[in-house]
Amino acid sequence: MTKIHAFDSTLRDGAQAQGISYSVEDKIKIVEALDELGVSYIEAGNPGSNPKDMEFFKRATALQLKNAKIIAFGSTRKVGITVEYDKNLQSLLKAGTDAICIFGKSWDYQVTDILRTSLEENLRMIGDTIRFLKQQNKEVVFDAEHFFDGYKANPDYALQTLAAAAQAGADCLCLCDTNGGTFPNEIFAITLMVKSRVKTAIGIHCHNDGEMAVANSVMAIQAGATQVQGTINGIGERCGNANLCSILPNLQLKLGFDCIPQELLAHLTSVARFVSEIANLTHNEKAPYVGNDAFAHKGGMHIDAVNKNPISYEHIDPERVGNSRRILMSEVAGRSTLLAKIREIDPTLTKDSPLTQKIVDRLKELEHEGYQFETAESSFELVVRKLLGKYQPFFELKDYKVIVNEPSVNGVNSSAMIKIRVGEQEEISAAEGDGPVNALDNAVRKALERFYPAIREIKLTDYKVRVLDSDKASAAKVRVLIESTDHKEYWTTIGVSTDIIDASWRALVDSIEYKLLRQQEKRPA
Ligand SMILES: [Zn+2]
Repeated sequence: MTKIHAFDSTLRDGAQAQGISYSVEDKIKIVEALDELGVSYIEAGNPGSNPKDMEFFKRATALQLKNAKIIAFGSTRKVGITVEYDKNLQSLLKAGTDAICIFGKSWDYQVTDILRTSLEENLRMIGDTIRFLKQQNKEVVFDAEHFFDGYKANPDYALQTLAAAAQAGADCLCLCDTNGGTFPNEIFAITLMVKSRVKTAIGIHCHNDGEMAVANSVMAIQAGATQVQGTINGIGERCGNANLCSILPNLQLKLGFDCIPQELLAHLTSVARFVSEIANLTHNEKAPYVGNDAFAHKGGMHIDAVNKNPISYEHIDPERVGNSRRILMSEVAGRSTLLAKIREIDPTLTKDSPLTQKIVDRLKELEHEGYQFETAESSFELVVRKLLGKYQPFFELKDYKVIVNEPSVNGVNSSAMIKIRVGEQEEISAAEGDGPVNALDNAVRKALERFYPAIREIKLTDYKVRVLDSDKASAAKVRVLIESTDHKEYWTTIGVSTDIIDASWRALVDSIEYKLLRQQEKRPA
């Protein structure tokens, strides 16, 4: 098996994406997660660009990483000066990493029109910079910026830039599709040609402007490149970088390359979600391999087939990338799936039981009202239990009031008052929050805590609102999904109403009831 080095640039090129800004703490956490995943290199930023990056490098180089090397990123020396006087190169050395990535121009027009220097000076800039870093015992990757466009415009000159880097001792020559518009067949042919001309290891760095970045990276590896650069979830400037979450399993599971230790590939989905969370991006649930929908089955016939043999509608075993199969709860899922789910709650029910029909009818009704149980399986279970009479409410709501005060004081702008009944006892409580739902959540917990201490373990991790039939403006319904955890498991509940607070309240009550139900049955939520 050929070893392919995964070179992650989530913290450098990925940070160029709109709306992304990592704190030093965020970056350290991402480095640790990537190291756990087993990538070879983590390109972590440009230490010359700001003091925050320098502080980060100080901490990062002190980490005891198991698999990855930290890479500092910078450019070739400035035009017309010697390397010793180049401030950016000084910062690069100060970062204290063992490996450095240097980018330089390889497209003649970029040299003459953007850098505004001679083609010969650019070659000297590449050679001088790499020689200088090699003298300091650094491992050096040379990123040949715009290599494919440069090669198409002036192949001789593009190859001369690689030769300059190779002669100066570069450890890897990375061919970049910086504008992201090259096609897989071109990438393959050009990489193959470069491979036949140079002995130095070749890398590939693709952008996704033609939505070809994953295919292009795979083609370059098939042509002989042994380093693949990209980012987690493909985040990056414009349309993003090559997505390592697709490239790594494609190379490893489909083509038999050795990218990361096989057993660590199972961390892929959790690392992808973790990076989305830290980058404050909604995780792409449609993403191949690492999205929630990647192995989700909805159509009744598909579910039937997958239950018989997963390979009927799954290209790989989801567990190999740390994902899992999901069977979606919905009227389309077909009787057999519904029945299986219902029988987990009451094993005596059959396909033809009147109660089964009652549940199916109720479900259709709720879906018509705007409920969707595909993601909110916990609410689904509560609906079924209520219809089967297998549910004792834990508390009864008498009423609640929510008041919003603007402007907020120290982030607090809402207060809620709630009256509930548990058995023969009534409880009234009030609480504040940074929004009406948060205030209500705080108030209901406070009221229930003395009856059900387990409530303290619940933490809300996600809150999503979707406006249904939005053409009806203010009379439109909203659907609220709440994800909760007790640090052992996650569960999702749903509420639908024309009023956002009421919809939130319904989802909140389901979340609490679900936890208490699990607690009562002495099984984890
Ligand atoms: Zn790039």
